Amino acid sequence: MNPIDNQALLSEEEAIKEKLEDLRSRIAQVHEGLESVKECSRLSNFLQKLYEIREGVNQLEQGLLQTHLRCCISPKIKVPGEVIVAVSSLSKKRHGAILVIEQEDIVDDYLKGGFVVEAVASALVIENIFYPGSPLHDGAVIIRKGNIVKASCLLPLAPHALELGDLGLGTRHQAAIGLSEVSDALIIVVSEEKGWVSLAIEGRLYPNLGTFALLQKLGNAAEGGT
Ligand code: ATP
Ligand code: MG
Repeated sequence: MNPIDNQALLSEEEAIKEKLEDLRSRIAQVHEGLESVKECSRLSNFLQKLYEIREGVNQLEQGLLQTHLRCCISPKIKVPGEVIVAVSSLSKKRHGAILVIEQEDIVDDYLKGGFVVEAVASALVIENIFYPGSPLHDGAVIIRKGNIVKASCLLPLAPHALELGDLGLGTRHQAAIGLSEVSDALIIVVSEEKGWVSLAIEGRLYPNLGTFALLQKLGNAAEGGT
C-alpha cells in the first residue's frame, strides 16, 4: 500500500469513528426519551430516529467492508460481470451456489466428480445450473477465462472450520475455503440458508459481503473482466 492510500485509509478510519460517536449519542438520546414517552406521536418520532440509526449503521458497515476489501483482498482479482449479475440474483432467491473463478492456477487436480460443460459464463446459464433440483446444482461451477468448463464439482474441504460453525455455515463454505487454501482461485459462495454472498481467497472466508461490496471491489470486472 502506498503512503497516499495509507493516508486515505486513516482519514476514512477517523470519519468512521466520528460517525460511530454520533450514532452512540443519538442512541443515548433515544434511551433517555423513552422514559417519558406517553403519546403516540412521540413514539412515532422515536421510531423514525431508530430507523435513521439503523440506516447509519448499515452505511457504516458498508464503509468498513469496502475498506476491509481494499486492504485485504488482492486488487488483481477480476470477475466477469455476468457472474456478479448471477450471484446477485441467486442471493435474492436464496439459491445456494459455489462459483470458482480460476486465476493463474488450473484447479482440475483438486476437483472430484463433476461434468464437463462448454458454455460462456452468462448469468442465465449460471442461474439455471444452480436452480434447486436441477441436475447440476450440487457442487461447484468452474469458470476459466470467462467460460464455464465444469459443473457439479466437489472441492477439497478445509480441515479447520470452527469459525464456520459459529456463523452457522457448513460444508459449502468449508469447501470454498478448502480450494482457496491450495490454489489462487477466487471462490464466490451464495448461502442457501442465509442468502449471504461470501468470498474465499487465499485460505480465508470473507462472509456476507453482499453483491454491492462485491461489485465495488471487483468493479472493472463488470466491464468485461477475465
Ligand atoms: P448453505 O449456507 O447454503 O446452507 P452451508 O455452508 O451451510 O451452505 P451445507 O448446508 O452443508 O453448507 O450445503 C450443502 C451443499 O453444499 C451441498 O448440497 C453441495 O451442493 C455443497 N457442497 C457440500 N460439500 C461440497 C464440496 N466439497 N464441494 C462443493 N460443494 C459442496
Ligand atoms: Mg447449510
